[in-house]
Amino acid sequence: MAHIRRQVAVSDSLKFTTPGRVPFSVEFMPPRDDAAEQRLWSAAEAFHDLGVSFVSVTYGAGGSTRGRTLRVAEQLATKPLTTLVHMTLVEHTAEEIRSLIRTFADLGLTNLLALRGDPPGDPNAEWVQTEGGLLYTNELIEMVREMPECENFDIGIASFPEGHFRAADLEMDTQYTLAKLRAGAEYSITQMFFDVDHYLRLRDRLAAADPEHGSKPIIPGLMPITSLRAVRKQMELAGASLPKSLERRLLDAAKGDEEGNKAAIREVGIEVTSEMAERLIAEGAPDLHFMTMNNVRATQEVLHNLGMAPAWGPGYGHDMVR
Ligand SMILES: Cc1cc2nc3c(=O)[nH]c(=O)nc-3n(C[C@H](O)[C@H](O)[C@H](O)COP(=O)(O)OP(=O)(O)OC[C@H]3O[C@@H](n4cnc5c(N)ncnc54)[C@H](O)[C@@H]3O)c2cc1C
Repeated sequence: MAHIRRQVAVSDSLKFTTPGRVPFSVEFMPPRDDAAEQRLWSAAEAFHDLGVSFVSVTYGAGGSTRGRTLRVAEQLATKPLTTLVHMTLVEHTAEEIRSLIRTFADLGLTNLLALRGDPPGDPNAEWVQTEGGLLYTNELIEMVREMPECENFDIGIASFPEGHFRAADLEMDTQYTLAKLRAGAEYSITQMFFDVDHYLRLRDRLAAADPEHGSKPIIPGLMPITSLRAVRKQMELAGASLPKSLERRLLDAAKGDEEGNKAAIREVGIEVTSEMAERLIAEGAPDLHFMTMNNVRATQEVLHNLGMAPAWGPGYGHDMVR
């Protein structure tokens, strides 16, 4: 068995702040092939050197990517990296979930992001409960909290600045998010968003509805925009919106030719994420969580703009990673 270092609880890692600088963390996806896996290890090393507070690994809908999630998380946790494993309810019985969670516990992977997951293929399709499976994420949290071997688990959840697309309204969304926090989650990581006001309203809604549980840390999820096509697709999958003013800025940079003006679009994207991050830091966000798609450069450029990382370039030893 791989030698996994004792993991810092993600909710504890949020306490390591210094004035003007907040912790940052990154999301990785399990790689599809050997070349992608090599890129992932280079990225993990680069983020380690940049002082990442924790790395998370997403959990896919299909069988083979699921095995890779565990394998990658296990490998990451042998390095000096705090590792957060995503876990979903899709196409699993409760018994299978329990057994997977036991494997995490045996391996020392004690940071869990509890999620429901979306239907494989079409995330917007009807959500069908697996026979003998769980229906909502709060049930997963309750299950883990009752497992004696998971006593030292630190559990996070997803939260949604614009409300989850399956929730009837923001009031219901608030109540369901609170149910997960009351069930024993310590913090949440948000769906990506591009309007900081949405994040601030979510924070206000939760704290007003339940000052004790609703005031737990909310980590903003940020995706540096590097292409218009990619961001539109991500927003559609997430059921979230791109503010009109931002779309205008990106379209102006594209000048009617998205392919030909990729660099200009990317520049605006990095600028926008940097501005958002600056405002989030000023508003006291506990950590900045970057959805990296396993690439380093865009995130590093944002961190550099915030004075939290050296500039990217061959002179800095990062020319081998994207
Ligand atoms: C940071 C982050 C990371 C993610 N990582 C992954 C990943 O690795 N793999 C993946 O497949 N997906 C991932 N997702 C997507 C996530 O699984 C989906 O957005 C999913 O649709 C919602 O998950 P949840 O845990 O919030 O669900 P739940 O909290 O279970 O909520 C699901 C829906 O049901 C409603 N609801 C909740 N409780 C009740 C109740 N008691 N009665 C009625 N309605 C209720 C909620 O309002 C919501 O609309 C991630 C999302 C985020 C924000």
